Amino acid sequence: MAQPTPLRLYNTLTRQKDIFTPIDRAHVRLYVCGPTVYDFAHIGNARPIIVFDVLYRLLRHVYGEASVTYVRNITDVDDKINARAAERGITIRELTDETARIFHEDVAALGCLKPDVEPRATEHIAEMIAIIEKLIAAGNAYAAEGHVLFSVPSMSDYGRLSRRPLDEMLAGARVDVAAYKRDDMDFVLWKPSKDGEPGWDSPWGFGRPGWHVECSAMSWKHLGETFDIHGGGIDLVFPHHENEIAQSRCAFGHSIMASVWMHNGFLQVEGEKMSKSLGNFITINAALSDWQGEVIRFNMLKTHYRQPIDWTVASLRETKRELDKMYAIASQYAASPAMIPPEFMAALEDDLNMPEAITVLRRLYSEAVDGVALAGTRLASCGQLLGLFQKSLPEWIGWHPASAAIDELQVQRLINARIAARKAKDFAESDRIRDELVAMGIQLRDGKGPDGELITQWEVKV
Ligand code: AMP
Ligand code: ZN
Repeated sequence: MAQPTPLRLYNTLTRQKDIFTPIDRAHVRLYVCGPTVYDFAHIGNARPIIVFDVLYRLLRHVYGEASVTYVRNITDVDDKINARAAERGITIRELTDETARIFHEDVAALGCLKPDVEPRATEHIAEMIAIIEKLIAAGNAYAAEGHVLFSVPSMSDYGRLSRRPLDEMLAGARVDVAAYKRDDMDFVLWKPSKDGEPGWDSPWGFGRPGWHVECSAMSWKHLGETFDIHGGGIDLVFPHHENEIAQSRCAFGHSIMASVWMHNGFLQVEGEKMSKSLGNFITINAALSDWQGEVIRFNMLKTHYRQPIDWTVASLRETKRELDKMYAIASQYAASPAMIPPEFMAALEDDLNMPEAITVLRRLYSEAVDGVALAGTRLASCGQLLGLFQKSLPEWIGWHPASAAIDELQVQRLINARIAARKAKDFAESDRIRDELVAMGIQLRDGKGPDGELITQWEVKV
């Protein structure tokens, strides 16, 4: 544990793989932008959750569990939330609580560990106000017509993360042109709330925060003024992360906010961009009715996290077949972090090179099939580090997609045949039929009818 880690991570800030050197190796700090809770999370949203879960597990493995803090926020103040709550005729809190609960169930089913802290934006308004006050005092922000804006020209090296040409940034900023802005690129830190909109009292009147300042406030509160790794999807580089950096660096006066900025690539479906209008918008929740969480997880991890993923049913089927085979072997062995081979670590420590790590898994699987017990133990141990093989084998085999229609007539026919076999004292046959039903996901309950005859009730195992 005392060894310096050879971990290398691709840093969007430097556009290269940097050797990871924590600010304090006894306290490694990771922040990932979490969901805006107004609707079911989709399968694309699952990608950063799974990718950074693997990074979190790797950091815990390298630095020790007690030395890593993972913060992933919940954005529970946003105009999309207000609109959806009004549409559904429920309060904002009801909507955000319900959505956050479903999100938690979804990501647990994907085999993800809980972050150490899951701050809600609405519980950090005081920190946001404090940051905005610091920015105004330092000359990096100004109040105008109930708004507070960050003054982009006040920061000489604004734009270092996204390295976008100025005209492109301006084009993005011009979407939101307003008379109270001194410069088109200035962005909102605070804005006024009308009656009926969520809001808080502030030195600039009743209002609510802009999105970017939420993450600066929550990372500050839970990780400090500077920390090690900040993550999210590639779409967040500009403007969200660029603006987080501007706020935090100018408020606290450091040359960095986070040392390493990591971004996952996008997920598309069957070769097309995922969107509601194309009808290929898959929620995590719906995907979990058709596939085990670990199948989704493993399928996601087969592609390098920085590459785009094409999400197809064909690849999910292939992943399911492969994981079924590996489960049958891995579940026979006890996993231990000490049994992870160096080549597997080397792959992960090379900017989470999962395709390479999976090549090692496959080799261990083949060797274990050939009877090499050490390979079986290693397979189980590497899988555990990736959050795989978390279920028992019976649980894994016993899972059935919710969408698989149960043929009730066939179930009844088999139950009748089993009763007939038992009457004829052909117990081998009655047991065989029971096994066949269990394999179909059917649970039997035997009882006696009023005349003492055998009655069998059945239900689908969940
Ligand atoms: P949002 O709720 O849109 O802010 O997204 C939450 C997280 O999911 C962010 O880190 C996004 O970058 C990420 N994300 C959204 N859509 C996709 C996608 N199709 N593929 C990969 N990541 C995505
Ligand atoms: Zn954020």
